[in-house]
Amino acid sequence: MPRLASAAAGLAAVLAIALPAQAQESATATLNDPEGAALGEAMVTETPHGLLIELVVSGLSPGEHAFHIHETGDCSAADFTSAGGHFNPDGHAHGYLDPEGIHAGDLPNIFADDAGVAHVQTVAAGLTLADLFDADGSAFVIHAGADDYVSQPSGAAGGRVACGVIEG
Ligand code: ZN
Repeated sequence: MPRLASAAAGLAAVLAIALPAQAQESATATLNDPEGAALGEAMVTETPHGLLIELVVSGLSPGEHAFHIHETGDCSAADFTSAGGHFNPDGHAHGYLDPEGIHAGDLPNIFADDAGVAHVQTVAAGLTLADLFDADGSAFVIHAGADDYVSQPSGAAGGRVACGVIEG
């Protein structure tokens, strides 16, 4: 075996020992439209202040869209209702502007440009990857309209236009 390849194999073996699956620090999701076409990718990285979410998505209508973490990792229904409601393990009300809020899965609206593309960096404060990988998993959902941050139970954001199961 060439020396470099041997060294790489040795390093891989060390990393495999040093990074067991339980110590996972990031996750990904592919967001699809209701016809199953991929619209974008999200990367989730655990930080001391919550989960950093980096999203690149296209194919949206220009303008403001609600973006949330939903409680079930299931995008199989044609209208994405299989993803359930917003991730809300603490039983809060929806929205940044509700004094009883917010849902742990509530995130700021995203903005698509005139070409329907959005580049997003946002933090879900206080959440960990372990929270997302509960028994039934979690999913990202983008809605047709904006979240008004106060209407119950989900910000009057309209239908679900993209969904992606969060995967380790
Ligand atoms: Zn909510």
